[in-house]
Amino acid sequence: MNIHGQDTIVAIATAPGRGGVGVVRLSGARALDIARSLVGERKLTPRMAHFARFCDAQGEVLDEGLVISFPAPHSFTGEDVVELQGHGGPVILDMLVAACIAAGARQARAGEFSQRAFLNDRMDLTQAEAIADLIDAGTAASARAALHSLQGVFSEEVNTLVEALIGLRIYVEAAIDFPEEEIDFLSDGRVAGDLREVRAQCLRVLQEANQGRLVREGMTLVIAGKPNAGKSSLMNALAGFDAAIVTDIAGTTRDVLRESIQLDGMPLNLIDTAGLRDSADVVEQEGIRRAYAEMRKADRLLVMVDSREGPVDPADLHALLPQSQQQLENLDLPVTVVLNKADLSGLNAGPRDDGTFVISAATGDGLPALRDHLKAAAGYQGEGQSRFSARRRHITALEEALAALDNGEQQLHGHAAGELLAEDLRAAQKALEEITGAFTADDLLGRIFSSFCIGK
Ligand code: GDP
Repeated sequence: MNIHGQDTIVAIATAPGRGGVGVVRLSGARALDIARSLVGERKLTPRMAHFARFCDAQGEVLDEGLVISFPAPHSFTGEDVVELQGHGGPVILDMLVAACIAAGARQARAGEFSQRAFLNDRMDLTQAEAIADLIDAGTAASARAALHSLQGVFSEEVNTLVEALIGLRIYVEAAIDFPEEEIDFLSDGRVAGDLREVRAQCLRVLQEANQGRLVREGMTLVIAGKPNAGKSSLMNALAGFDAAIVTDIAGTTRDVLRESIQLDGMPLNLIDTAGLRDSADVVEQEGIRRAYAEMRKADRLLVMVDSREGPVDPADLHALLPQSQQQLENLDLPVTVVLNKADLSGLNAGPRDDGTFVISAATGDGLPALRDHLKAAAGYQGEGQSRFSARRRHITALEEALAALDNGEQQLHGHAAGELLAEDLRAAQKALEEITGAFTADDLLGRIFSSFCIGK
């Protein structure tokens, strides 16, 4: 099957590096022909593993392994798919891909296998995104949530909402088409009741999606304060609670130190400000400019103070930050002020009335309250609360749908305006359908799939 008239694509499906086995995947109308040009003319029983030698066009043996065919439509992409399972070395796998290309395949673009699966109705857009999220998951909780999205839990919620909206639209549009009865239709209570219910449902899905996003992306915290206040000690103490997971976060510059740990299943990305200093060096200035650009995208600023310094005014950031970090004041982030070294100052550990937190990074006193505060500030309700994973794109669409429904309620109650209500319901449905891809602009598709890696 090749319903979109596309080329046959090929890519390495396994992770870069060395391993016992490496998989090269072909998808498209010519996948079987191309595979046969490597393994020789032979019968390939669907979904059966056959041992084979993989040869190039000159007949030279490149590797040996297994070949498995998945004829359309029973494959990941919905097209003819063939997997060549060779030895997992980068050079061997590159040679296999090159042999497939010489035989007529084209190198797959990032996310192209998943995109074809979506275009061939093998999955909707949230499910395709869930594959990428599952592969990228940094915590067990986010992997679980992504798997649920892949299994359609999130899509089902959205589809149920869309169904309810369509029911409501039919009723309202009928009221408009039969104007003599419009007043009765709109004021008989059913529209208002159904609208209230759809809105409540939309809000619930939005809240759940937000938990799903937090489990995936977590919260980013900039840790600032004067030298020796205990910033590194806090980062270590927070990390020490759970086994620390240190990850390389793609796209961060060398100048920004980031560490990712978990707070009860929510990733907490910590950005260290140690690299910020006053400098005349052009290269260093550029690094610092980038560090600030990165920090601008954070969710919160945590300012550490040595509690032996005496009483502080948490609103006076200027006094709490060293000279080299004064620019943090302009980032406009919400701030948490933490007074450290309670064991030395004698202050009681825990939250204070002025909103600050007293802790001892050395003894761990006051840390549970600080952790709870950070989770609450992010809106995170705990590991069990995220049934599915979600992305910022989904949250935005749900917020748009909710705003349209709110508008619709105003039109109904304020002006009894059927046409305007119908328009709002249409807008809400369109926003929701962008989530699953039932309605999607092409450029959005391009953006989503190009963020995947090759071979997915
Ligand atoms: P940074 O410069 O802000 O990163 O500060 P550090 O985390 O390196 O801490 C500076 C010094 O203070 C180190 O010697 C730490 O061991 C010590 N320190 C940090 N937190 C505490 C604390 O809560 N109690 C005590 N007694 N010492 C601490």
